[in-house]
Amino acid sequence: MNTTAANYAEILEQVASTTIAQNAAQVDQEGAFPQVSIAALREAGLLGAVSATEVGGLGLGIQGAARIVRRIAEECGSTAMVVTMHYCGAAVLEAHGSMEVRRAAASGEHLSTLAFSESGSRSHFWAPNGTAETQNGHIVLNASKSWVTSASHAAAYVWSSKPLAAEGFSTLWLVPATGSGIAVKGPFHGMGLRGNDSSPVMAEGVNVPPGAQLGEDGKGFDIMMGVVLPLFNVLIASCSNGLMAGAVRRTVAHAAAVRHSDTGSSLGELPTIRNYIARMQVKSSMADALLQDTIAALGAQRADGMLRVLECKAASGETSNEVLDIAMRVCGGAAFRKEVGVERLFRDARAAGVMSPTTDQLYDFIGKAVCGMPLF
Ligand SMILES: Cc1cc2nc3c(=O)[nH]c(=O)nc-3n(C[C@H](O)[C@H](O)[C@H](O)COP(=O)(O)OP(=O)(O)OC[C@H]3O[C@@H](n4cnc5c(N)ncnc54)[C@H](O)[C@@H]3O)c2cc1C
Repeated sequence: MNTTAANYAEILEQVASTTIAQNAAQVDQEGAFPQVSIAALREAGLLGAVSATEVGGLGLGIQGAARIVRRIAEECGSTAMVVTMHYCGAAVLEAHGSMEVRRAAASGEHLSTLAFSESGSRSHFWAPNGTAETQNGHIVLNASKSWVTSASHAAAYVWSSKPLAAEGFSTLWLVPATGSGIAVKGPFHGMGLRGNDSSPVMAEGVNVPPGAQLGEDGKGFDIMMGVVLPLFNVLIASCSNGLMAGAVRRTVAHAAAVRHSDTGSSLGELPTIRNYIARMQVKSSMADALLQDTIAALGAQRADGMLRVLECKAASGETSNEVLDIAMRVCGGAAFRKEVGVERLFRDARAAGVMSPTTDQLYDFIGKAVCGMPLF
């Protein structure tokens, strides 16, 4: 498929409305990795959104990646999450990886992800406990990673450890998922995003060559904040906004389709129900507008760019819970079962708030930023 920056939106629509939509309920029901949907996105060239055209990517940047993730999330939160983490890993590889691995990530043959969170540092991902030591010209990694999306399906992990020798919070590595000493503690049994395979990964005496280092020793924090955080926050916000768009669409369809036999009127003809749907619409549009302004602020390198990055994930994460809560109310008992499709989105939407930086951490950072205090 010859996907380009000019036609990717059309191709995305085709994949999202067919393959991804058709597989979403089963992925959720079985807690199965969305193999078929990811294969369709790979074949469509869409896993190369953040990779440069010189390595075979689409070079769409953050705006295109956000559009793709939002549209996928409308159909399947699990697939949107897998794609989000692939784009975040691919962005680090674009900045610090070899040409070979950049090409592989752009084609999607190399599915990427981040292995930052650990059982010790928990959601304080910027301060890992995992270690890296030089032994006989090799680097030996030990860590207990608590959550790695696509843990059993990624080709390699963008991995954080304490620095080798330098000052600083962390150093990043590219760690093959099949390396000796790597153990994935799956399968993932989550409340939502049930297909995203976010399992713990243990590393015991894992050997990687010194060339596996991504960026300078001790500079992992700078890459996390400079490369990963803006993209991650925008894409998780896009995921939340896509879930809201999916909720509005399904709720409107349900309200139009069902009637009370005694009055003969549809749900949507009840002013109470229309009022709730209007609230869903307004909240979704507010979150979308803030997200678009965040992308514009980053593009123009505005002074408030990082504040917007912090705000957009908190706002979309919180708002998606509110919108999905209303969707459950409007769709009544029918929503409590699977048939309307909003309860899956309701469960999926809960994850954004606990993904680090969590909503509580973001409020703390935003408060500090607004009050003129240092964030760390
Ligand atoms: C579906 C899913 C997929 C994930 N995928 C990945 C992945 O691919 N890679 C990866 O590295 N991680 C991933 N994570 C992990 C995620 O980023 C968080 O690290 C993890 O969810 C934190 O959970 P915890 O129980 O360790 O939180 P805890 O740190 O125990 O936090 C518990 C509560 O305390 C609050 N809290 C913690 N610290 C502060 C603070 N400083 N200020 C205010 N409040 C605070 C939190 O907001 C939270 O409400 C994923 C998580 C989920 C749910």
